[in-house]
Amino acid sequence: MSVEKSFLQKVLHREKEKLDNLSVIGGFNRFIKNHLSTILPSDLVEEAENYPLFSKSEKIRFLQEIENAISALQKNNATAPQRSRASISQKKPLNLETPVRYLKGVGPALERKLNKLNIKTLEDLIYFFPRTYRDRGHPTTIDTLKEGMLQTVEGKVISVRRRNIRRGTLLKITIGDDTGLADLLCFNQDYLSRILRPGTRILVTGRFRRSSVSGRMETSNFEYEPASRVKKENFEKIVPVYSLTKGLSQKKIRSLVEYALQNYLPSLEETLPEETVQRLNLLPKRKAIYLLHNPGEENIEELLQRRSRAHLTLIFEEFILFALSLKLRKSMLQKLRVAPCPSGSRLVKEFTAKLPFKLTGAQSRVFEEISRDLESGFIMNRLIQGDVGSGKTLVAILSALKVIDSGQQVALMVPTEILAEQHYHRYRDILEELGLKVALIKGGNSKQKAELLSQIAQGKINLIIGTHALLEEKVQFANLGLVIVDEQHRFGVMQRARLKEKAHVPHTLVMTATPIPRTLALTLYGDLDVSVVDEKPVGRKGVETLFFPIKERFKAYNRVRSRIEEGEQAYVVCPAIEESEEEISNVQEIAEMLREKWFKGLRIAIIHGRLPSKEKEEIMASFEKRAIDVLVSTSVIEVGIDVPNATCMVIENAERFGLAQLHQLRGRIGRGSVRGLCILLANPTTEEARQRMKIMTSTEDGFRIAEEDLRLRGPGEFYGVRQHGVPEFYLADPFEDWPLLEKAHQEAEAILTKDPELRNYQNLRREMERKFGKYLDLGEVS
Ligand code: ADP
Ligand code: MG
Repeated sequence: MSVEKSFLQKVLHREKEKLDNLSVIGGFNRFIKNHLSTILPSDLVEEAENYPLFSKSEKIRFLQEIENAISALQKNNATAPQRSRASISQKKPLNLETPVRYLKGVGPALERKLNKLNIKTLEDLIYFFPRTYRDRGHPTTIDTLKEGMLQTVEGKVISVRRRNIRRGTLLKITIGDDTGLADLLCFNQDYLSRILRPGTRILVTGRFRRSSVSGRMETSNFEYEPASRVKKENFEKIVPVYSLTKGLSQKKIRSLVEYALQNYLPSLEETLPEETVQRLNLLPKRKAIYLLHNPGEENIEELLQRRSRAHLTLIFEEFILFALSLKLRKSMLQKLRVAPCPSGSRLVKEFTAKLPFKLTGAQSRVFEEISRDLESGFIMNRLIQGDVGSGKTLVAILSALKVIDSGQQVALMVPTEILAEQHYHRYRDILEELGLKVALIKGGNSKQKAELLSQIAQGKINLIIGTHALLEEKVQFANLGLVIVDEQHRFGVMQRARLKEKAHVPHTLVMTATPIPRTLALTLYGDLDVSVVDEKPVGRKGVETLFFPIKERFKAYNRVRSRIEEGEQAYVVCPAIEESEEEISNVQEIAEMLREKWFKGLRIAIIHGRLPSKEKEEIMASFEKRAIDVLVSTSVIEVGIDVPNATCMVIENAERFGLAQLHQLRGRIGRGSVRGLCILLANPTTEEARQRMKIMTSTEDGFRIAEEDLRLRGPGEFYGVRQHGVPEFYLADPFEDWPLLEKAHQEAEAILTKDPELRNYQNLRREMERKFGKYLDLGEVS
């Protein structure tokens, strides 16, 4: 607080007695504005402007509110440890990592709201860029107002009338300028009569329409600000619009951002080399950040499309930092030497001999690429891409065997527990026949698990299968040689980086069924080499896909029923687990309907993510043993599950699933020697949803589906990476801003070629380490 507390109390006391605005020289209202604006709630500060015009009772109420606000403030200070009265005015030195609660006026409640928006630090606040922008035009005169458009007029409040209406009160505030009158209609906002007093000059922004009664322009949807505060030259034509959360207004978030900018921005250092900024026609970073929050007169179209110079600058910066970190990571990884695996492997040979089929050409080729990596004496970092069912997992197992043969352990990480179970049950027997030990690690804390963990630590277990839990839990490996990550798009660079904390740096193999264009893959997973399994095992009969509207459900289930009666099994997939407000099919109800109606007499079970894992395990096991005919489930079966005799699938409310997901789901049943049958039950209401159904029924080609998906949904959604894999960018979106990402990679490459350790690019290096340093932490190198 910039004012002595005792002085403040005196002033308030004096003002309460006289209510004449004269308790301070210059006026009580000005005093509030000049000295207390940073600590009081902004609506109080705003109201203060009209204090001289208040009635007696309004003044008393207002003074009381000020007192309350101040005592609330002091309470907060009192409970904060080590904050004596003297230190209240001492600013904590601000830096990017300073938590927002150290900002003036941010108490625990506001902090929680900010956290909801992911704003935790000052940096988050500064980088909390507007969600969109509004063009409210330059102030115009009342006679030139047009209906329906967002416009701004400057006028003086002429009169304020208040009326009781059915649902509360209506204030009609009439404003006027030299050219005419207009009305502001305010429903249940009586407090405005205290602020918008006759004589007050204001700027009003809103959409107007002409009243059929008065013939005047009027608006009920408007914002205002006192004209006194806005000088012509700093009127903001374009205003930022921030994302909000309950209880947080645009004004509040804006004032916090402004405060953070004022206090922090000047000390923020430029990151990009001056030369790069010039050549690529970018802006200095500080200016770019400032402009995104205060666009004023910038080009609205460019802002909306995220193509303003400010946008390009900051997006480019995020990308180049990311690109530099990946490239540095890659060159660090490439230098790491490990003991090479011997060429030729007994285990691989014996395992392949036991397989009831031959490897496809693509599988052999990719396994050769992997073998070469493993034998090279350098660390492998490879991504395997291939459509569902192309046999990636098998290649991974072969790779595991090769590493195990050289005396090291292998960890296989998959996205769901069900999938972990399945891999475990599928490969345990055959691997144990080869004399190996396999363990499944799940969440929880059993005695059995403790025993397994200790065996892993002693190196007695060769292959360890689990979910992300392998990252979180205290799994200590004796000599981890290879980490296999199945279904990459659920794992990010970050997770890969964290795995490295587990041991000396192991080889890494990531597998994904999501086709990512090669160039983009190289840029996003720039630290990985890429192999593609582009061929499916022969003899696959594929899947026939049909579409039925929901009202023809009985037809769909009849078709499936006749196949089950011939000994095949089926999945029924629903978007929800149980009944909710929305009318969507759920596992509980559909299972009941099947039992009572369409599938009477068949053995039906339910499975979904909320079941205890023991139960899930038992259900999957009996499904594989054919003790269950029909599995009603959520999309938990989406990834990797493999029961060749399950050849039918009904997808309820198929319109609720994206193309990639539908293709993944369908991939579960194209695995046997019998042609699969997939039925999409849906009521598509949008053109886009109808398109999805059409694409699914017309092709089985995963790459084509991915392309269509990309076209229909746009890239970010398609890859599902907004929530998953890609690192935390504030502004950049690797899929939408793809050309800039490429440019950033070129620039990063050029810089690193000149200066591999960034000795002459200290700011760039520092910022890269601050933001992406975690990717450079390779853990203990043995
Ligand atoms: P992905 O992980 O790519 O989805 P999987 O490795 O799980 O594929 O293989 C899918 C199914 O195909 C499994 O049942 C597997 O045993 C079988 N399979 C794998 N490779 C071949 C092959 N070369 N010939 C025949 N079947 C194969
Ligand atoms: Mg798989």
